[in-house]
Amino acid sequence: MIYWNEYTWDEIQNLLDKIKAVILPIGSCEQHSLHLPLGMDSFSAIKLSEKIAKALEEKVLVLPPILYGVSPHHMNFPGTITLSSDTLINIVLDIARSLKHHGVNKLIIINGHGGNTAPLTIALRKIREEVGIEAVLINPWELISDVIMDTLESTVWGHACEFETSEALVIIPNMVRVNKIKKPKIKEQKAPYMTIWEKVKVLWPWNTDELTDTGSIGDPTKASREKGEKLFNAMFERTLEFITHFIKE
Ligand SMILES: [Zn+2]
Repeated sequence: MIYWNEYTWDEIQNLLDKIKAVILPIGSCEQHSLHLPLGMDSFSAIKLSEKIAKALEEKVLVLPPILYGVSPHHMNFPGTITLSSDTLINIVLDIARSLKHHGVNKLIIINGHGGNTAPLTIALRKIREEVGIEAVLINPWELISDVIMDTLESTVWGHACEFETSEALVIIPNMVRVNKIKKPKIKEQKAPYMTIWEKVKVLWPWNTDELTDTGSIGDPTKASREKGEKLFNAMFERTLEFITHFIKE
């Protein structure tokens, strides 16, 4: 069993000596264009966490996932449910305090949603200074940015795109509405440097419907299962490589 909450308290007590770290998957409940489900980011974080925990049997357990994230920028699409940044920071801090109480000293967050990165970065600092356990944030897509560049045909990617749709074809194939995969119309911005996927840019609090008509940022019509296998395996291998070293004493 890889999930923390499938054990009883006395079983966890016995496992606490063996466990080197726990993994907390965090996703979102937000629009993912016309062809992917609202829970895509959660499924992504969960599938990767489960595969890692199976590979590192007995050394790590997976905590109950957080299925909501910080997604105000997707609220103009029906179905999106967002947490405030403060709520996410506080949930993660409360979890860290509970882990500390039981003697778990390493927390690995596997995150499926870019909008969670800023609040989770604040949470990591607070966990270090206020809780006193070691916590890290893994954004799997950042660990494999070179593989993404090599694999994708599109230069623009980011949301319900070639990357994410390829991954979905591997991890949740039955949930992909293949006949609804559609290239979005990208909307022009009123000033230079407002294109969010360029390297040279100003930051602004964009809403997704100001960038695209379908909710996709990038072209999902270029997605394939083969690309998905390559990308998901790369995320798995690099995450596993990191965690294997991170949990050593
Ligand atoms: Zn996503």
